Amino acid sequence: MANRKFIVGNWKMNGLSEQLTDIAEIAKFADKYEGVDVAICPPVTLIAQAAEHNPGFMIGAQDCHYADNGAHTGCLSAAMIREAGARLSILGHSERRTDQHETDAEVKAKAQAVHAAGLSAIICVGETEQQRDAGQAVEIVCGQLAGSFPENADASWLTIAYEPVWAIGTGRVPEVADVEEMHAAIRKKLNELMGEGAGGVRILYGGSMNGGNAAQLLAVANVDGGLVGGASLTAEKFGPIIEAAAAA
Ligand code: PEP
Repeated sequence: MANRKFIVGNWKMNGLSEQLTDIAEIAKFADKYEGVDVAICPPVTLIAQAAEHNPGFMIGAQDCHYADNGAHTGCLSAAMIREAGARLSILGHSERRTDQHETDAEVKAKAQAVHAAGLSAIICVGETEQQRDAGQAVEIVCGQLAGSFPENADASWLTIAYEPVWAIGTGRVPEVADVEEMHAAIRKKLNELMGEGAGGVRILYGGSMNGGNAAQLLAVANVDGGLVGGASLTAEKFGPIIEAAAAA
């Protein structure tokens, strides 16, 4: 049986309180298409206000620290983002793996901390263009997945996002056959890593998804939803993606 589609918006470092009206507008689409799970991960400064608005879908964070507390200036623990109103966290986004040098081991520890705090986790994996050109994409992505994979993983709280680094924010999208190959490889790896229950772990595609290409991407086998950056900032752009997920 196909998994329920999950569409997640990653606002990255965008949004002040005036953008809360966009969350209210997006909520209208989430209400209309009840068969789709929707989440928005705004900057941490907006989590509490967004959650208070009770938009009828999940509000998440874009990262959290793996430690419960301590001398980690500028960082936030899973309990802190939970208290602010987050119900999930994106982890190991390629921008953090690059800019903050996050390792697979750190992403794994973060996922375990998030789960221990009662939150869901979205672990991001993806190859660079150089790695794809060298024919290493599947090997790299499955290696990242194995290295970042938390103990006691379960479909009730874990989601994987496949995001080719070269497709993020570039307007470029892989061939459908390449998306299909990668999502099948991720499913196979999940089977190896967790056995029973692997089929229920949702695998999102991320990288320049928009209202024009969402239907095609969401129709691919093992694509259980999307992680969306630029096109998640307004209801005008995000709504059609939710609509496409409902029809997929
Ligand atoms: C992302 O940041 O996770 C992402 C997929 O961005 P964009 O949709 O803008 O490519």
